[in-house]
Amino acid sequence: MIDNILNPFIHQAYSALDGKPVSKALALDLSKLEGPDILDLVSLANKVRDKFCDDEHICTILNAKSGQCSENCKFCAQSSHHEAKIDEYSLLDTEEIVARAKFAADNGVRSFGIVTSGLGFQKVNDVFQSILDAIDAIQEQFPELGICASLGMLSEETATELAKRNIKHYNINLQTNPERYNELIATTHNVNDRITTIELLKQHSIGVCTGGIIGIGETMEDRISLAFALKELDVDVIPLNVLVPIEGTPLEKSNGATIAEITKTFALFRLINPTKVIKFAAGRETIMKDFQGLLMLAGANGYLTGGYLTTRGRNTADDKVFQNQLNHFSSNK
Ligand code: SF4
Repeated sequence: MIDNILNPFIHQAYSALDGKPVSKALALDLSKLEGPDILDLVSLANKVRDKFCDDEHICTILNAKSGQCSENCKFCAQSSHHEAKIDEYSLLDTEEIVARAKFAADNGVRSFGIVTSGLGFQKVNDVFQSILDAIDAIQEQFPELGICASLGMLSEETATELAKRNIKHYNINLQTNPERYNELIATTHNVNDRITTIELLKQHSIGVCTGGIIGIGETMEDRISLAFALKELDVDVIPLNVLVPIEGTPLEKSNGATIAEITKTFALFRLINPTKVIKFAAGRETIMKDFQGLLMLAGANGYLTGGYLTTRGRNTADDKVFQNQLNHFSSNK
């Protein structure tokens, strides 16, 4: 009976519930599903999340240093190559960073990410030392709060300092199909530079948070290639952003991706990476609007709360209500 109702590719993909993630060929077939079949795919992704993932992972980030970036990532408002109008500032004072961490801790957030614009840190210079000082102060005052960081590419020297502080996760995104990185994302650096930092993080036993962005002109095949690249790298957390086109960037007029495509992408990421934390990052409120809950049911088990680097998000209190409703779709709540 079920064989007649369920699309045969989805039927095949149920193997993911037995611990056999979908192959690339099957993922490509699933990516072509349309109409009501998409909701069957969502249902399977939710079951896989429910079976293999623990509690929801909710984090908040602070843009601790904004703009004036030497790189030319097409989607990013912080690049000095683009004309986007954003607040630009150098590294915030330690007191300000600690105050923002306190706000996160007071609101029940378990992970607080310090993010800085720029290519990264090869040396422990004054700016990097100030970030380390802020991490030390937060860890002393709020030992329950996990500290994450996203500071660009690292060297042995700077990775060692972060490892000493036992930070929870370090974020560095591959963004898209690695083979099309220069075409779709940036020409001022290469994806291999990012992969080198990921390998460094692993050598130092720092949790790796690496994901990408949807809606920059990539194909479904590119998205699937990214999902498999992340599987191969065995990253711990996969943040998925949906492009928020920002005036003054090369992608300001991008049509992005349809809600159906984005939903299928989230579900496929879950079927390809069944046990990983998949977080819905930028675009949740601004682009997905009424459909943000649908993506959370399509296999995501975490999200960013309280706003993004250069765009606003929903406040943490409203997100708690949202989470309580989502919990009804899990078996252990
Ligand atoms: S994504 Fe990061 S490296 Fe790229 S332009 Fe923006 S701040 Fe710079």
